[in-house]
Amino acid sequence: MDLVQHHIGGGRTEGRGTRRSDVFDPSTGAVARQVVQGTAGDVDDAVQAARAAFPGWAATPPLVRARVMFRFRDLLERNAKALAAIITAEHGKVLSDALGEVTRGMEVVEYATAAPELLKGDFTEQAGRDIDAWSMRQPLGVVAGITPFNFPVMVPLWMMPMALAAGNCFILKPSERDPSASLMLADLLHQAGLPTGVLQVVHGDKEVVDAILHHPDIQAVSFVGSTPVARYIQQAGIAAGKRVQALGGAKNHAVVMPDCDLDRTADALMGAAYGSAGERCMAISVAVAVGPVADRLVETLAPRVRALRVGAGTEPEVEMGPLVTRAHLDRVSGYVDLGVEEGAELVVDGRGLKLQGFEDGFFIGGTLFDRVTTAMRIYKEEIFGPVLGVVRVPDFDSALRIVNENEFGNGTAIFTRDGDSARAFVHGVQAGMVGVNVPIPVPMAFHSFGGWKASLFGDHHMHGPEGIRFFTRLKTVTSRWPAGIRSGAEFQMPTLG
Ligand code: NAD
Repeated sequence: MDLVQHHIGGGRTEGRGTRRSDVFDPSTGAVARQVVQGTAGDVDDAVQAARAAFPGWAATPPLVRARVMFRFRDLLERNAKALAAIITAEHGKVLSDALGEVTRGMEVVEYATAAPELLKGDFTEQAGRDIDAWSMRQPLGVVAGITPFNFPVMVPLWMMPMALAAGNCFILKPSERDPSASLMLADLLHQAGLPTGVLQVVHGDKEVVDAILHHPDIQAVSFVGSTPVARYIQQAGIAAGKRVQALGGAKNHAVVMPDCDLDRTADALMGAAYGSAGERCMAISVAVAVGPVADRLVETLAPRVRALRVGAGTEPEVEMGPLVTRAHLDRVSGYVDLGVEEGAELVVDGRGLKLQGFEDGFFIGGTLFDRVTTAMRIYKEEIFGPVLGVVRVPDFDSALRIVNENEFGNGTAIFTRDGDSARAFVHGVQAGMVGVNVPIPVPMAFHSFGGWKASLFGDHHMHGPEGIRFFTRLKTVTSRWPAGIRSGAEFQMPTLG
């Protein structure tokens, strides 16, 4: 059986550990390959290789680093289909969606090709008399990224291009559930001219994560995953003196106003709730129906949910693939059971879906609940599956209050034709990314990505301008050349005058 290995010190290695974990084909349920589970020793090997490479990479002119990014971007484009196939094989999402993921990741690489411009400092001539001052951003050193299963290409590409273009050496710890794509990214980066040691991939679980968090030579940790782990990463990372950005889970609400274009809104909700089987941190999992729109919304959605084409992600007509593992399928089905027990109205039930030829695949159909209340666990907790709940509220103020009182604040959207409601929503909502008639408002690479509240722990959003700030630190220089009259020692605070 194929074994997915680490990429340490410029080549593949099984590392020091003996543990292995299974990687599944979610459409058949079969074990497709195994992945090595690293140890603290593997992390240390990776750090030593990265430390050795850092002085040379940090001293490489940003324009030369940018040229690596240009070549990497072209290689990504040429290999997009192959990468998408790897994503679909291990994650299960449909191929067109996997290709979209590659493109969104590639956009961050395109942004990072502007490294010379992004790293250009500020200069003040005559900050004092005959004194000049300038600020510059320098790389941190060895930094690490820990990524989730749901975007095995895009999320590593939120981090790596920014960190590398800024002059850091990067250690990636991908999800153990779909680890193969990370190695293809490493290969393409090396083909693009990245020097040996600048990038390492160490596979594993909590053991590797803890080794990263406690390694004294790792300066910063960028994390994306579920909220409990994000909270832990931030606390442990900060206690160990590291810079941390930790993006967590979500419960994204779409507020549906009575004046919206209902057909278009229903289309938007279908893609946002059921695309990628709901395994997106920006998936819409709650529709907040305002006033009289609720009945019409549920009537419009229900037949579309029933008609969803579910199947293997490789089949051309399929709209929704399987979930990532059997454990996750059981968890999502358990939430549907719970919703029924809690008294929500199950309008479309996706449980127990069996597909001919794929009987052991991790499939569940689209599920729609009506009359969900904010007291229910299916409302409060992240299900991360193709389950949409409709919460009915009387007016806009109640809708806004519900969104703002929710624990999470990743993305949210409003569907309306009314500029006043849209503006009031954009202004008052407590979330990091907001859509107006846009269901999944994932910012482009030149803006940054990040949520509020329990969806992000740390100070910086991901990629874009925030990514450059996260992966660099500021140095400010004040400079005078000795000339003219000697004034002797000065003991007061220097001031202009
Ligand atoms: P996860 O938290 O289980 O795993 C994320 C990473 O942390 C993986 O690399 C995993 O190996 C590691 N990990 C898991 N448990 C750990 C533990 N106890 N201690 C240390 N490390 C641990 O998340 P997942 O299931 O892979 O991904 C889905 C979650 O990620 C969802 O909650 C989703 O909302 C979230 N997510 C958030 C964003 C965002 O931008 N906010 C983006 C994508 C996914």
